[in-house]
Amino acid sequence: MIEQSFSGIGMTSSRTRERLIQRLKSQGIANTEVLERIRSVPRHIFVDEALASRAYEDTALPIGFGQTISQPYIVALMTAALIEDHPSEKRLDRVLEIGCGCGYQTAVLSPFFCHIYSLERIPILLSRAREHLRQLKITNTTLRAADGWGGWKSEAPFQGIIVAAAPEDVPEKLLAQLAEGGRLIIPVGNRSWQNLLCITREGQDFRQEILGKVKFVPLLGGMEN
Ligand code: SAH
Repeated sequence: MIEQSFSGIGMTSSRTRERLIQRLKSQGIANTEVLERIRSVPRHIFVDEALASRAYEDTALPIGFGQTISQPYIVALMTAALIEDHPSEKRLDRVLEIGCGCGYQTAVLSPFFCHIYSLERIPILLSRAREHLRQLKITNTTLRAADGWGGWKSEAPFQGIIVAAAPEDVPEKLLAQLAEGGRLIIPVGNRSWQNLLCITREGQDFRQEILGKVKFVPLLGGMEN
């Protein structure tokens, strides 16, 4: 019964998911492990039942509190950018996610890293995320209700930091928590124009690449009650 609810029927079936994978491929996502992961994570369990039939459309969907579950293309792009150039048999050590939301990106990231640390400023979303990850038996995560602007100093350095909400400038504290060779994937800009950046630490220097134009919710300060 549980297995069936994950594999889905009708608009959540394997055929519907295959269409999404073909779309991501046609948009340039080439990493086959990432595509397989997007195919296997049941995105419909992360959204309200009323939206389940739209879960495999390549769009962001509301998850409450004015927040959204990220668009699959963006989740695939960010995940691929984090793991690129690393041999697949050697999992990266640890990654920090800022903006856990409903936990979908966390679930997609889970097989690629030994451990995922994730911060979310809205406690109710975080408890829902915990429940989703528990349902999927994903255990290599530590989730915390906190403002992500300062990163997670006691667990740093990270080989990857992935940010699911946009600040106007790159937070210095996140750069400081990157391991040597580590990557920060972050949307930067205002409400109408943002670039998705991939910033790699090289000693005391940071190399920056623009992955594309994106539209994320803003990275807010402080906690939501
Ligand atoms: N990762 C989610 C996307 C969630 S949308 C997914 O898989 O679909 C972005 C999330 O960032 C929201 O839940 C929002 O509450 C959170 N957020 C915004 N500013 C934040 C901050 N300063 N610290 C932590 N989380 C933040």
